[in-house]
Amino acid sequence: MTNKPNILLVYTGGTIGMVKDYETKALIAFDFSQIIEKIPELKQLNCTIESICFDEPIDSSNMNTDYYVDIVNILEKNYNNFDGFVVLTGSDTMAYTSSAISFMLENLQKPIIFTGSQLPIGDLRTDAKENLITSIEIASANKKGSPVITEVCLYFEYKLYRANRTTKISAEQFEAFTSFNFPPLAESGVHLKFNEHVNNLTKDIEKKFFVRKDLVKDVVVLKLFPGISLLVVESILNIKNLKGVVLETYGSGNAPNSDSFIALLKKAIEKGIKIVNVTQCKSGRVIMGHYDTSVLLKEIGVVNGMDITTESAVAKMMYLLNENLSSVEFKKVFETSLRGELTDKYHF
Ligand code: ASP
Repeated sequence: MTNKPNILLVYTGGTIGMVKDYETKALIAFDFSQIIEKIPELKQLNCTIESICFDEPIDSSNMNTDYYVDIVNILEKNYNNFDGFVVLTGSDTMAYTSSAISFMLENLQKPIIFTGSQLPIGDLRTDAKENLITSIEIASANKKGSPVITEVCLYFEYKLYRANRTTKISAEQFEAFTSFNFPPLAESGVHLKFNEHVNNLTKDIEKKFFVRKDLVKDVVVLKLFPGISLLVVESILNIKNLKGVVLETYGSGNAPNSDSFIALLKKAIEKGIKIVNVTQCKSGRVIMGHYDTSVLLKEIGVVNGMDITTESAVAKMMYLLNENLSSVEFKKVFETSLRGELTDKYHF
């Protein structure tokens, strides 16, 4: 690392890069190459900053896997020339995007910090400045010349989270995200304090960084609710080319145990569709076999999502389905932590 860390800002869109047109009162995207002029405080940071902006910044509701590839292409192309990266996206789908990027990057040894804001950067009460400035500080942080963070994270409102553990929880509070099943990696107050479990991911530093760009999109989230009709479940499981289902179950992974419901899932699994059991609860984990209502799911080969978020389960499926794994291998790999996205070593 040179004396001053070199940080790349990647602006994809979202509220953070907007300013109010005081005549029309509408929010418009501002020219992100002028970021330093817009936030002169950035000059006080002990790093050099460059920025790249999507040609047409998007609202994150329009995020898709092609844009995921655009983001990882930028990261790949610039990986060797920068010490850290701050990726700005809209907050609405940031948990999905940052989770997916965490799987797409193999053997990552540098910080990638996702952030955004609830209010535009030009707004008087904006949260954009703090989120952006601290994200850059985190991306620049190093200890004896090595980066403190070497994974994909999400920073929002004074907390740094492992990206693939996050969920958007509020459409209006500045505290828009949380990570229910994993503690923050850092907290920013008077000091920027990294927690001791930061970088607890096992990594082989000899392995070369590379990027995976092939994601499988034929996945669905099926959220159970009392009264869901068998016809609905059957129709979803019969979608042409469907490869994976994130099944949002109740409590610790429970679902109806009627013969007819189980038979539909069993048939789908026999066709090669991978089904992952994720709880609808905001925190806690799936324990298959704990209740009678999850024994059969276990028996027919449903994958245990443990304490993974739905956002991360979708991303992990899109990433793993491309590997053409057998059902047994898929289950084994899915139930193993690849990027710290689930707690696989858990003792009851
Ligand atoms: N709708 C915006 C987006 O996700 C909200 C935000 O930027 O936070 O792009």
